[in-house]
Amino acid sequence: MNGVRVGKRVIGADSPVTVGWDNLPKVEGGPFKRMFFTYFQPAVLLALVLFWMYAPDSIAKASTAIGIGIGFKVLLYILEWVNPRYKSWSLTWKELVVDLFYVAIAYTLIRYLGKNFGSDVWAEHILKSFDTEKFTWFTSMPLLVQAFLITLFADICYYWMHRGMHNWYPLWLSHSVHHYITQLNINKGQIGNPTEIFLIGLGIGGFFDFLPRAALLAGSLGMSISIYQHANIRFNTPRWWLFLFNTTEHHSVHHSLDYEASRSNYCNTYIFLDRIFGTCVDGEAELLGMEGGRRMSIPEQMTYTFTEGYKSSKAFLQRRLHPAAVPAE
Ligand SMILES: [Zn+2]
Repeated sequence: MNGVRVGKRVIGADSPVTVGWDNLPKVEGGPFKRMFFTYFQPAVLLALVLFWMYAPDSIAKASTAIGIGIGFKVLLYILEWVNPRYKSWSLTWKELVVDLFYVAIAYTLIRYLGKNFGSDVWAEHILKSFDTEKFTWFTSMPLLVQAFLITLFADICYYWMHRGMHNWYPLWLSHSVHHYITQLNINKGQIGNPTEIFLIGLGIGGFFDFLPRAALLAGSLGMSISIYQHANIRFNTPRWWLFLFNTTEHHSVHHSLDYEASRSNYCNTYIFLDRIFGTCVDGEAELLGMEGGRRMSIPEQMTYTFTEGYKSSKAFLQRRLHPAAVPAE
């Protein structure tokens, strides 16, 4: 396979990746269906922004945000079923059981750890010493600007955390498990070694109960853009959206079996960050995973980070202590 040159890199030399937007499959069907899957993503974004900007205080609460989040996920399940991006990504019983296992973990164990050791603990600490007057320069800006800046800041952090995970071996041990998934669907964001979900959960979870409206708006801004990255839904995503935002298209490239392609599109929300930092690859991939698409069992996913970490630290120590005894690689 030859691959395609993107900047200094060759994409698609190990496994096929469609590079660019021109050869992507289009939504098939009647005019209503095509229109629906063209404007769905922008329409939802607009509706949520308007809701969080203008809804009265009595309904603009964190519990409403949770309700909307759950309802929206259910809608996306239906859309995955109506108009899948790839048949090969369709949910099988085996996939569903694994997915549900992780969703259950995410909602129980990780929440519990977060509450006791993660962001909830230091959120309380920070909020106690929080001097609201120092932030009037921020809170006097228009709500939408505040929300955008919050999501931008969060996404810059996410970008470097994620890029670090791909480049620093100890973090890669934790993150690599997530890269063994061989298909994308709404549940796949949860799949990985629990250590990783905990690392990401350190982020913002703890502030949830104290959120002002700008943060709720920021949350739904982030959700209505980044939730699609693991969705198996074929959209005719508008060009301007592809230019600004992270999409299933971009994220499938990030999960590609192709090594170079997987080292791209690190952002969670704003793909223009990858454009700025030089890691964006526009396109799409169907064949996903690691090691030729080898599937991992749940027990292996749970233990991989630790067993691999143990193996490599042992090998490292052996090389250090008895350099002569280890044959050169
Ligand atoms: Zn990754």
